Amino acid sequence: MKLQYLGTAAAEGTPGIFCQCDLCVEAIKRGGKDIRTRSQAVMDDRLLIDFPPDSYWHMIRHGLNLPAMEHALITHTHEDHLYLNELFYRCKGFCDTRSHLTLYGNDALVRQVAIYLQQNHLTEDAARLSVVELTAFVPARLAGYTVTPLLAAHAKNEKCFIYIIEKDGKRLLYGNDTGIFPEATWRYIKGLRFDLISLDCTHGKDREGSNHMGVPDLIDIKQRLTREGNADKDTVFVATHFSHNGGLLHHQLEEALHPHGYLAAYDGMSVQV
Ligand SMILES: [Zn+2]
Ligand SMILES: [Zn+2]
Ligand SMILES: [Zn+2]
Repeated sequence: MKLQYLGTAAAEGTPGIFCQCDLCVEAIKRGGKDIRTRSQAVMDDRLLIDFPPDSYWHMIRHGLNLPAMEHALITHTHEDHLYLNELFYRCKGFCDTRSHLTLYGNDALVRQVAIYLQQNHLTEDAARLSVVELTAFVPARLAGYTVTPLLAAHAKNEKCFIYIIEKDGKRLLYGNDTGIFPEATWRYIKGLRFDLISLDCTHGKDREGSNHMGVPDLIDIKQRLTREGNADKDTVFVATHFSHNGGLLHHQLEEALHPHGYLAAYDGMSVQV
C-alpha cells in the first residue's frame, strides 16, 4: 500500500492564512517543505482521506486525479478536513465527469451532506455525491480495503474518527486529528500490529494530548503502542498535521522527531508499506 500526504498542516495552513508570526515569515522565505497545506492524503492514488479547502491545489500540485476519485474517507467535519462548498463543482455545468463520489464517515458528516443537498436543491445523482455512515469499531469493506473507524480524542461535539486501513495483509493506522487515544480505542487495537502508524503533531515541540499531540506526546504514545503489540522495529511511524503555532520548521521537526523514530511528513511525501 502507498500512502501519499497531499497536505500536512493544521487548520490555517503554514504559513497561516493572515499570519505574520516569525515562523510563518520564515516559512515563506524558505518555501519547499516548509509550505504546508491543509491535511489530506490518498491511498494507492484511489482512496482519498479528507477533503480540505486545498484539495484543488493538491490536484494541480501532486497530479491527483480528483475527477476520477470515487471514495473519500472523512475523519471529521472541521473545515480543514471537510470543505463541502467545493463539491458543488461536481454538478453538471461545472464539470464533465462520470465518477460518483462516495464520502464515508460519522453521523455529523451524514447530517452536513444532507443539509448541503437540501440547500442546493440537489439529488445525490445531480450532485454526483453520496454519503455512507460508518460506525466506530465496526469494519467496513470499501474501495477494495477493509476500513475500521476508531474513536479519536478530538472535538467534543462530534464522534471524530481515525482509521485502520487494511489490504493484502498490510495494516495502517491513519491518526489525525487526535490526542492520546480514548481507552475504547486502545482496547480495540490491543495486539493489532501495524505496518504504518501516522499520527497528529499539531503542537510541535509542546505537549498537549487531549485534543491534539506534540512531540512529547508522540514519544509517549509510541512507547505504549509498542508495549501493546501495535508496533515493532519494522513499523513506520509518521508525524503530520503540523501547526505554525508548534514553533518548528521542517528541519527542526526532523531534528525533534528522527531520534524517536518518526518521519516528519511534508506535502507530497509518499510512504510505501
Ligand atoms: Zn485538523
Ligand atoms: Zn504563523
Ligand atoms: Zn479537527
